[in-house]
Amino acid sequence: MGEETNVFYRNPFADYPMVARGEGIYLVDTKGKRYMDACGGAVVSSIGHSVREVVEALKTQLDSCEFAHTSQFTNRPQEALAGLLAELAPGGLNHAYFVSGGSEAVESAIKMARAYWVQMGRPEKWMVIGREQSYHGNTLGALAAGGNPWRRAIYEPMLYQRPRVAPCYCYRCPFKKDPAHCAIECADDLERAILEVGPEKISAFIAEPVVGATAGALVPHDGYFRRIREICDRYDVLLIADEVMTGMGRTGKWFAMRHWGVVPDMLCVAKGLAAGYVPIGATLVHDRIVDTFTNRRNVFQHGHTYMGHPLAAAAGVAVINYIKEHNLVDKSAKMGEELLRRLHEHLDDHPHVGDIRGKGLFAGVEFVADRATREPFEPELGFKQLVGEAAFKLGLIIYPMAGTIDGRRGDHVLIAPPFIITKAQIGRLVELLHKAIDKACD
Ligand code: PMP
Repeated sequence: MGEETNVFYRNPFADYPMVARGEGIYLVDTKGKRYMDACGGAVVSSIGHSVREVVEALKTQLDSCEFAHTSQFTNRPQEALAGLLAELAPGGLNHAYFVSGGSEAVESAIKMARAYWVQMGRPEKWMVIGREQSYHGNTLGALAAGGNPWRRAIYEPMLYQRPRVAPCYCYRCPFKKDPAHCAIECADDLERAILEVGPEKISAFIAEPVVGATAGALVPHDGYFRRIREICDRYDVLLIADEVMTGMGRTGKWFAMRHWGVVPDMLCVAKGLAAGYVPIGATLVHDRIVDTFTNRRNVFQHGHTYMGHPLAAAAGVAVINYIKEHNLVDKSAKMGEELLRRLHEHLDDHPHVGDIRGKGLFAGVEFVADRATREPFEPELGFKQLVGEAAFKLGLIIYPMAGTIDGRRGDHVLIAPPFIITKAQIGRLVELLHKAIDKACD
């Protein structure tokens, strides 16, 4: 806007427009410019903007009750949403703990893991470990479990000093293996880290099934999560799947862990849960953990004022029903294949495109200074930001984020459009992205 503002927020783009309305996969600003919302902000808008059914569900709920505190009442929408999630989640994850967003969902999982081990008579198991190149939220516990040095830096020392657990990053394998013939050494790195710290101190391991913001849709090796599950079981470490980005159909299944048939002990979900219509998050918890808490008072001291908010839950129910009625999880899988096909078609030969990856409508493009050596750009250049800004000017919204490569920043963008996107719109998306990359190279 370039005008005085009392809002305290970092402005990622020099030209910072004011949004007027949303229509399907588009946002329109107050000057009438249309943008294709190809990342739903930070992977939020899964069903598109201004869906009548969701708006009507919110109005109906507002007409009956806007708020009743969950320490005094339950409410119909939260009961219905918990029931739907139990049907859709991997087996055994039958209880939903509702919160207001992704960080709260992760923070709740971390505290639940700790409370579980206290309950089991092992209070020394307190530490949560995560991987390098990961992000699980901005609250202090979630940040401590994450592996993004740039975000953590000024808040050190953190709740726990983490051992380094390698990411499953096949384009830049931390063990310099050929992913087609490797022994999934990156999964075994969890075992090494557990033994380094001592399994008696570790309560849980947290990972995103497909890494989003910090790595640009890193899809793991097919056997990765099965091995991770085995290691967690071997050392009595709970497995927390952070599906804040990947959940609710984004990768072509309701939950990404379903791709590998692995059941975590807790699963965090947010963004797509109400698709941006209201803030909401949830920690889905396995029966065996909930069973240890049931009928015992004061074992899980945790809660937030807006948990189980009737409006948030009503939107969640309406979003799930809309996804089901329009078969949008299948569409995410099919259109995701189309998106990857088009990205490869347009960008495989581009001198600064190193890798194209993803699952469902969750795709990433990694940029490099040199394709042959995979050498990244100098961080000062901020290449992904140049691509993001050029795309924004062209009316395309993508999500430029910094990962880390051997301790340095890397460049990638995330592309995660609403599941209602058509083939023609995918064609246009990729054309605009190609132009934006070329502009960034100028
Ligand atoms: N986990 C993951 C994987 C995320 O991508 C994010 C947000 N980008 C979070 C947790 C935190 O969610 P929120 O911003 O809603 O607190």
